[in-house]
Amino acid sequence: MKQHLWINGEYVEATDYHLLKSPYDQEIICEVAKASHEQVKNAIESAREGFKKLKELPAHKRADILEGVVHRLEKNKEECAELIAKEASKPLKAARGEVDRTIMTYKFASQEARKLYGESIPMDAAPGGEGRVAYTVKEPLGVIGAITPFNFPMNLVAHKVGPAIAAGNAVVLKPASQTPLSAYKIAQYFHEAGLPEGALNVITGSGSTVGSVLTKSSEVKMITFTGSPEVGTKIREEAGLKRVTLELGSNSAVIVDKDTNLSEIVPRIVTGSFVYQGQVCISVQRIFVHEDIIEEFKERFISETKKLTLGNPLNEETDVSAMISPDDIDRALNWINEAKKEGAELLYGGEKQDYMLIPTVLADAPLSTKVSCEEVFAPVVHINSFETFEEAIKNVNDSQYGLQAGVFTNHVGRAFAAAQQLEVGGVMINDIPTFRVDHMPYGGVKNSGMGREGIQYAVEEMTELKLVSFKLN
Ligand code: NAP
Repeated sequence: MKQHLWINGEYVEATDYHLLKSPYDQEIICEVAKASHEQVKNAIESAREGFKKLKELPAHKRADILEGVVHRLEKNKEECAELIAKEASKPLKAARGEVDRTIMTYKFASQEARKLYGESIPMDAAPGGEGRVAYTVKEPLGVIGAITPFNFPMNLVAHKVGPAIAAGNAVVLKPASQTPLSAYKIAQYFHEAGLPEGALNVITGSGSTVGSVLTKSSEVKMITFTGSPEVGTKIREEAGLKRVTLELGSNSAVIVDKDTNLSEIVPRIVTGSFVYQGQVCISVQRIFVHEDIIEEFKERFISETKKLTLGNPLNEETDVSAMISPDDIDRALNWINEAKKEGAELLYGGEKQDYMLIPTVLADAPLSTKVSCEEVFAPVVHINSFETFEEAIKNVNDSQYGLQAGVFTNHVGRAFAAAQQLEVGGVMINDIPTFRVDHMPYGGVKNSGMGREGIQYAVEEMTELKLVSFKLN
């Protein structure tokens, strides 16, 4: 099967195609189009025309289209989950969870489309402002370039396309090369739901060529990007004066205070560490446990980790499957070895099995080693102890990243101190940093990015505020 490009409401053949292989067994899934420069430009031009058509659509029609996508996702849940499982090697259980979340994301987008309003401005609050009636409106930007990563191929597309369409923008979407099929599926659902031709275009091909044309184009008014800090930095450099939001990586941490109930929280932290092979931007990577309970914590953590089933993502019982690429396994193994050399103790894992990396638990990794200070993006965690809560907060903050952090404590004062002092975009008290629902404001500080997602917040980023002032008489 060949997956063509989606431009101006129809499939368009490319001259080149690349073989899409399953990360689990390297079997060929299909051939995927590689857009030429000219085709990227055509997609942008088609989006410009699509934007004009979107302008004609009242808010309730845009809301209905987004609802239409929700209905199609609900009707085809299992097919969508299998698609994600195949192209991303995401275990079916987690893939189903992603489809459920995608449905919620488009539901929120549909609601947002109906409440795009500004405010009235009391102009007479300033001397000289008397005799005027003024208000603001939120206007769409025009063409938005959306560039998405492999790890949530359906829901992270939804976090860009949903608010963009809700606000009346047209989109050129460039999904990750390893996970294009979920994106093309969504384009088909939008088409069936009545989205005007050109309002959503999907182009595939290597990020550094196809993505770059999009980023540099003066016709594109905004780039919304989710992916690695390296690529995010490049995009920021290339984008010039256009608006840019960046949702980047992290090395998320969790603090476990001494008074916590380990039987309850350890299974949750194991899930936050190893769900989708740790390839989640808010995956637990650094675990700081009070010294009084660290031995019990480690024992329980290893025993819970051993319960995870490794295998084919399409098997019902699989918890952990293949990493996205063999190179990523090698990188993670190198980092594990570096940590061992620097004094970390390997408590579990540290080996590969076919295209999978066995969930790996290290103790006492120096905080300067890559498994701690870089984004590991693999099923690898380290557990270190702390003596005082202040020290734990300092360790969490000692990072170039700041997406989310989790804190388990029963002490109200320490919980508030953590909320105030942690340098992250979101603090989860009594939960893992991996917690996210799709309407909450979501985004990072430091090298974890700029701007916020969570439909309402993304709509803010994707609209321009216009002031209208009427001088009376
Ligand atoms: P990636 O390598 O940065 O790729 C992300 C997207 O950018 C892909 O579509 C990629 O295309 C494209 N791209 C690559 N080079 C480009 C360039 N020069 N110009 C424009 N686009 C370019 O990231 P990934 O490996 O797919 O995803 C993992 C990263 O995403 C991790 O760092 C993770 O933390 C982060 N992430 C962040 C969030 C968040 O919300 N903060 C959520 C999920 C993931 P190709 O696939 O063709 O290379």
